[in-house]
Amino acid sequence: MTQQHRTRYAIQKRVLVTGGAGFIGSHLCARLLEQGHSVLCVDNFFTGTRANIADLIGNPNFELMRHDITFPLYVEVDEIYNLACPASPVHYQFDPVQTTKTSVIGAVNMLGLAKRLRVPILQASTSEVYGDPAIHPQVEEYWGNVNPIGPRSCYDEGKRCAETLFFDYHRQHNIPIKVIRIFNTYGPHMHPNDGRVVSNFIVQALRGEDITIYGDGQQTRSFCFVDDLVAGLMAMMATPAEVTGPINLGNPGEFTMLELAQIVLELTGSSSKIDFRPLPQDDPKQRKPNATKARELLDWEARIPLRNGLAKTIDYFREVVGESARSLTG
Ligand code: NAD
Ligand code: UDP
Ligand code: UDP
Repeated sequence: MTQQHRTRYAIQKRVLVTGGAGFIGSHLCARLLEQGHSVLCVDNFFTGTRANIADLIGNPNFELMRHDITFPLYVEVDEIYNLACPASPVHYQFDPVQTTKTSVIGAVNMLGLAKRLRVPILQASTSEVYGDPAIHPQVEEYWGNVNPIGPRSCYDEGKRCAETLFFDYHRQHNIPIKVIRIFNTYGPHMHPNDGRVVSNFIVQALRGEDITIYGDGQQTRSFCFVDDLVAGLMAMMATPAEVTGPINLGNPGEFTMLELAQIVLELTGSSSKIDFRPLPQDDPKQRKPNATKARELLDWEARIPLRNGLAKTIDYFREVVGESARSLTG
């Protein structure tokens, strides 16, 4: 055995990624494998796809298990990243009861697993716990403004309850927890029919279809490129046990949806028109992370500017949506 092999063997961990065939999860699995770890990807393929992990299948350190985390899971691992949950409003509202079950019962099962194994577990929480925020930018101390009975509640309240479970397992059973609140993230492997704004605008621009702006387009979001986000998740997992979070992960650059549409039109060279549609109920008016804690505790900040990340994402979607789109945009 070479020195390099010995070192790699010594630090190699077996890491569980739930939701590993999804958009963020597939990038996380790839990065963990690159670092020499062994990855167990658990996914029920509700929104995830085999295409997202096609490059990983065949890697001897990668194992895929089709499983729904609302059912118990008995495996042996050293670390858990809990990402399983549909993240796009279109998908999480398709079967809202299952969405809440995934966040709440799924969290109980994954925390039960962490408790039996005494291993660290990271929760992919969300800026949605702040709801339609009255504090701007959002700091972790803000308790949020969430409608408990609206169409977004299955996601928002499910994620809030999951955070409660994480902190109670930590206090009651001393489980090492890591709670991250992810702000809008984009990049390759988003599903073309995902329904989120970045994928919608890019696919519409590439196909020469109208760009659908909901409301007047003055609502804001802060967009983080997926490579930055994954680096932040791994930095959080590497922190000492006393760092539990919650910690915001996001890019503080704030854009209106109208600005985003204009940038996508410019970068794709598309001549699509803008079509204003009704604003969905409970759509947050503004969102921007205060990322001070991430900088201080994780030495992390988003580095990839929106235009650079969008250019990479557009390249990906040109492949996915195919030749017809390419000819439309010249
Ligand atoms: P995604 O929909 O692409 O991925 C979610 C994955 O979880 C999919 O592969 C899906 O098949 C799987 N899944 C869903 N329910 C499951 C279940 N019951 N059992 C097993 N697998 C299940 O979404 P994403 O954008 O990659 O989001 C990943 C995580 O990050 C989610 O927990 C989401 O809430 C969180 N998050 C994402 C964003 C974002 O902007 N992308 C923002 C905030 C939080
Ligand atoms: N669980 C699991 N895998 C394990 C251990 C537990 O899926 O390796 C699930 C199990 O279904 C249980 C849940 O996690 O219902 C919570 O476990 P915990 O130990 O907290 O509760 P208990 O088993 O005492 O109800
Ligand atoms: N949005 C839009 N057109 C679309 C999809 C979304 O204008 O085709 C808006 C949506 O109303 C919201 C913002 O873009 O104000 C971000 O929506 P997304 O679903 O991406 O994320 P979330 O609302 O969960 O932040």
